[in-house]
Amino acid sequence: MLPLDAAREFVLERCGRRRPALCRVADALGLVTAAEIVAAEDIPSFPNTAMDGFAVRSEDVAIAPCELRVVETIAAGHAPEVTVGAGEASRIMTGAIIPPGADAVVMVERTIVTPAENGSDETVRVEISVPPGNHVRPAGDDIRAGELVFQAGTVLTAGHLGVLCSLGMTDVEVYPRLRVGVISTGDELVDDGSPLRPGQIRDSNRRTLLSLLKRADVEPVDLGLAPDDLDAITEAISSGAATCDAIVTSGGVSMGDFDYVKAVLDRIADMRWMQVAIKPAKPLAFGTIGDVPVFGLPGNPVSSMVSFELFARPGLRSMMGHPHPMRPTVVATAAEDLLRRTDGKTHFMRVHAAHVDGGVEVRSAGGQGSHMLWAMAKSNALAVVPDGDGVRAGEPVDVLLID
Ligand code: AMP
Ligand code: MG
Repeated sequence: MLPLDAAREFVLERCGRRRPALCRVADALGLVTAAEIVAAEDIPSFPNTAMDGFAVRSEDVAIAPCELRVVETIAAGHAPEVTVGAGEASRIMTGAIIPPGADAVVMVERTIVTPAENGSDETVRVEISVPPGNHVRPAGDDIRAGELVFQAGTVLTAGHLGVLCSLGMTDVEVYPRLRVGVISTGDELVDDGSPLRPGQIRDSNRRTLLSLLKRADVEPVDLGLAPDDLDAITEAISSGAATCDAIVTSGGVSMGDFDYVKAVLDRIADMRWMQVAIKPAKPLAFGTIGDVPVFGLPGNPVSSMVSFELFARPGLRSMMGHPHPMRPTVVATAAEDLLRRTDGKTHFMRVHAAHVDGGVEVRSAGGQGSHMLWAMAKSNALAVVPDGDGVRAGEPVDVLLID
């Protein structure tokens, strides 16, 4: 059996970063920048008010309260037309340009307006004196033109995309989103909700893997079901490889007579069939067709998910330029015994991790069989239990946070 690290290294070495490309900002969520982003303009681009209120000359309100003549009302998005002179003020709304002449804003809550009447002008009574710059957001207050905004290798989150929009960017240079095809293999599989004939089961892996891909910021492509037939699997994988950046299959990589995925990959890909020293997910057939990696994951539902987490996800994220393709690991405390037998393998036990005063505590999420998807679904972490007889309650255990 191959140690996990060696198997993963083999995979990652063949999952190099793809060539960067321009991507619409609208489509860039979760992608990784491939170049520095430098601000082309100041944010904000003009001095504006942080409050609804009155733009004043601070020297006019040095002795408060005082009465000022209202000369204009300035809404956000509209340029002021009047210069604020001595004894004057302009009503101003949050985000509007500070008018010429004014150097401070008094919030509306500290003012009282006397409406225009019988030929007299509208006036405002200002109750407080304010220093120059009061509630004024100067141009470039957030970001200055020329400033380095984001380093290459930044994973674009919602906030990052907002900044790019603020800067007027419509496109961004990133490692492109991969299109990844998913194929389920097995004569026993049905996916149409029809009554099961003897020996049939429902295909769960495809939906699970497509969903894991989506969560990994990849574009999932459903390539359907293939029966346990050499030609059908060959056709499914090779046509998939022609249109996708990577392929994920489930089933057909173990020791059975009809495990054809590994046979097909052996023929059409540069493939290595590995027995990894882990449980679940021991067998893995990983190959490349040209520069398209194919992850031949085992068929048992939990195995396919664990194998995806340990190999496919890091590999695909490396291809998309992620600086940290791996899931984070923390040291948790076992809240109950996590028992196992010695078998030369590292066990990835499905657990539920919860925060408890300052630390993380884990408990089994349920049945640990590789066919027991229910417990996998209820887990949010995989406890990494080294070879031996397990971890006792109260002992530390490494935990891979998968949710
Ligand atoms: P295999 O790796 O093809 O030997 O399959 C191992 C086990 O996983 C068998 O019990 C299969 O019936 C089951 N299995 C394979 N593919 C799927 C799938 N797509 N959905 C659910 N179970 C599957
Ligand atoms: Mg099978």
